[in-house]
Amino acid sequence: MKPIIIAIDGYSSCGKSTLAKALAKKLQYAYMDTGAMYRAVTLYILNNKVSVFDLNDAAINQLIDKINISFKRDENGNSITLLNGEVVEEEIRGKAVSDAVSEVAQIKAIRRRMVDLQQKAGAHKKIVMDGRDIGTKVFPNADFKIFMTADPKIRAQRRYDELKAKGQEVDFEEVFENLKMRDKNDTERKENPLVKAEDAFVLDNSHLNQEEQLQLIVEEIEKRFN
Ligand code: C5P
Repeated sequence: MKPIIIAIDGYSSCGKSTLAKALAKKLQYAYMDTGAMYRAVTLYILNNKVSVFDLNDAAINQLIDKINISFKRDENGNSITLLNGEVVEEEIRGKAVSDAVSEVAQIKAIRRRMVDLQQKAGAHKKIVMDGRDIGTKVFPNADFKIFMTADPKIRAQRRYDELKAKGQEVDFEEVFENLKMRDKNDTERKENPLVKAEDAFVLDNSHLNQEEQLQLIVEEIEKRFN
């Protein structure tokens, strides 16, 4: 199969990264979790108490210059996020970051720098990238675009179960509210809003398990690229 770029976009807690990771493993491609990048920037801003909404573009650029985001793999092949060399994988999934990230992700100068890094990572193709604007802004010419969606209550339940399984104290209503708030911010923002690319393959996984989703997408890839 010729090297391709696979762009996966969709609403919060749709299982984008689960599918992206499984696909990357299957195809032996790289995987990039762009949500983790916005989350890491948000963590830096919170930790350093930066009044980011008061900054102009030049100051934002200076701020981003101080932030180094990288990824490594754990022994199970999971992607682990590092912020300035420190593992922050758990912290970036916590409530404080989840509550603030979609506002930080609205800042134009921050998006520009993140998109730039993401485009560089895909320069040689053979990558699966998931986020909100991958098929529309980061790689408008991606070979295969997937737009994921699912019933909001089902998504909130999945997220709730995931956080519980990690031992976090969570309240279903809070998880549901956070998800609705992020969907709203992500779809209504001016800069690179979440929108289905015209040529995206829509995957509603409300009633599909992980294996079924992977199988469906692998079949679609074989049909299109073999
Ligand atoms: O994918 P995840 O839910 O971890 O992303 C966290 C947040 O980062 C999203 O709610 C969205 O506001 C932002 N994001 C974005 N563009 C992307 C990926 C994530 O704006 N490409």
